[in-house]
Amino acid sequence: MVWVEVVAMTQAEQLGQRFDVAVIGGGAAGLSAAVVLGRARRSVVVIDAGAPRNAPASGVHGFLSLDGISPAELIETGRKEVEHYGGLVVHGEAQSARRTADGFEVVFDESRVVSARRLLVTTGLVDELPDIRGVRQRWGRDVVHCPYCHGWEIRDQAVGVLGTGAAAMHQTLLFRQLTSDLVLFTHTAPALTEEQAEQLAASGVRVVTGLVDSVEVADDRITGVRLSDGTFVARQAVVVAPQFVASSQVLATLGLHATPHPSGHGVFVAADPTGLTEVPGVWVAGNVTNLMAQVVTAAAEGVSAAAAINADLITEDTQHAVTAYRTMHAVGHDHPDVSVMFTQEFWDERYSSSDRIWSGNANPHLVAVATDLAPATALDVGSGEGADAIWLAAQGWRVTGVDVSRVALDRAAKQAAEAGAEIAGRITWQQADVLAWDPAPLRFDLVSAQFMHLPRPELESLHRRLAAAVRPGGTLLIVGHDLETSIGRHHFPDLLFTADQVAATLDPDDWHIVTATPERQVVDPDGQSITIRDAVLRAVRRH
Ligand SMILES: Cc1cc2nc3c(=O)[nH]c(=O)nc-3n(C[C@H](O)[C@H](O)[C@H](O)COP(=O)(O)OP(=O)(O)OC[C@H]3O[C@@H](n4cnc5c(N)ncnc54)[C@H](O)[C@@H]3O)c2cc1C
Repeated sequence: MVWVEVVAMTQAEQLGQRFDVAVIGGGAAGLSAAVVLGRARRSVVVIDAGAPRNAPASGVHGFLSLDGISPAELIETGRKEVEHYGGLVVHGEAQSARRTADGFEVVFDESRVVSARRLLVTTGLVDELPDIRGVRQRWGRDVVHCPYCHGWEIRDQAVGVLGTGAAAMHQTLLFRQLTSDLVLFTHTAPALTEEQAEQLAASGVRVVTGLVDSVEVADDRITGVRLSDGTFVARQAVVVAPQFVASSQVLATLGLHATPHPSGHGVFVAADPTGLTEVPGVWVAGNVTNLMAQVVTAAAEGVSAAAAINADLITEDTQHAVTAYRTMHAVGHDHPDVSVMFTQEFWDERYSSSDRIWSGNANPHLVAVATDLAPATALDVGSGEGADAIWLAAQGWRVTGVDVSRVALDRAAKQAAEAGAEIAGRITWQQADVLAWDPAPLRFDLVSAQFMHLPRPELESLHRRLAAAVRPGGTLLIVGHDLETSIGRHHFPDLLFTADQVAATLDPDDWHIVTATPERQVVDPDGQSITIRDAVLRAVRRH
């Protein structure tokens, strides 16, 4: 298959990006969803193991305008359509998915990873066939299950229904619509009621009791059904009722399990009418959730799920845009309205918009500096989700974490509790607006402000108050995006500073000052690795 080779050349690079949507399973449901998402200008990747359920069948029936198309051609065409709209189709089998700070990571082919903001799982189902010789061999050809998929193709033939459950009676009546030469093999189905026996007799259906031993095959076609007692009944096609088992292994790794379907026909993954599951951000469509879906139904469900996902992403994108807009508005004037951008409301909203904003790792300059110090008391200003404070506490520091956002403080406290009672017990979380807050003077052995960016006058004022909070012999550590090397990368250069500018607020008689602009490798929002410089001021109070 040429497309695999062509795509493979660029896949590694393309897979490195964070997609809007990862679709697991590229059958009718998954590919239809991906086309709709691509047309909505969403970045989408489809990971597909390449084994659609109807692969054994020669044609797809009942799909308006595509009637009789081969399953392979339908998928091939669908993949091309996805790619036409910029989607990426990757051959592979997904093993697991996990939630990340801003979406999901999917592991496929054991070690390959792709990340996306939303997940759509369209992995279909597995047909568990009756364990009777000849059934699997002829499955999808002259052993069939669905009157609408392949009933027409066996019309007027000599057909046998292999009864394995309560559905046998219903299935028999369905196929009686297609042929008058019909036999019900009761096999392991429940005994017929008098009413059912009468209905079959009235419909001209022959009933054969006894266990079935095999479906006999010669010259690549069914010749008949052999019973355990040796009786042979000539037939051209056999109808079975598989158990439909949703392919839910990946969903299980997110805590979503398939449950018995009320019809008794198998197990499925429950979802709301748009395909949204109990796990926020995870949708399902097609046979994995609708065991009865035909190809056109599965495709339509993919379309609905795609539209719902796109709407969900639009809500999130708009929320982010409003936050950015307010930020821009706040700092875009000659006299920035800092009261908007640095309010509790602003930051509570920002933190509430996502499960996690920051990486969860302690800032590297803090780690470098604090590693050389004996743990004592520390003040972490702008403590956010708590990574720095928790790291310090884990090293033995008694930490005060200060932030304007109650949402951030609650999240930080939860993280600390998860890190253990001893660590959590060393941290005091304090809600304060740093624009108007005075920490206790000469109180802390380490005062750290990491990437706290404010308009210049407010920032200088804050740096002075932070310096005042450092004990004799203690360390002041101020880190930010360096003004001179970060211009152009930041929307708000007015908020940036250099280490020397911070140093200018300190009296060299009182402080031993070291400034630096070290380089750091980071991954930018486009997934590119770039080098940036930080402004780092480390000052030790002499007395
Ligand atoms: C023999 C037979 C004949 C049929 N004929 C017809 C017909 O004529 N007309 C009709 O309308 N319907 C027909 N059907 C029903 C049809 O097969 C389904 O309606 C349709 O396949 C459902 O589409 P789907 O996208 O939900 O699942 P599928 O088409 O089964 O696609 C699921 C895809 O997900 C992939 N996948 C599964 N697990 C993973 C994983 N972990 N990682 C990556 N990929 C994964 C699979 O390999 C597959 O490619 C037939 C069914 C059978 C069994």
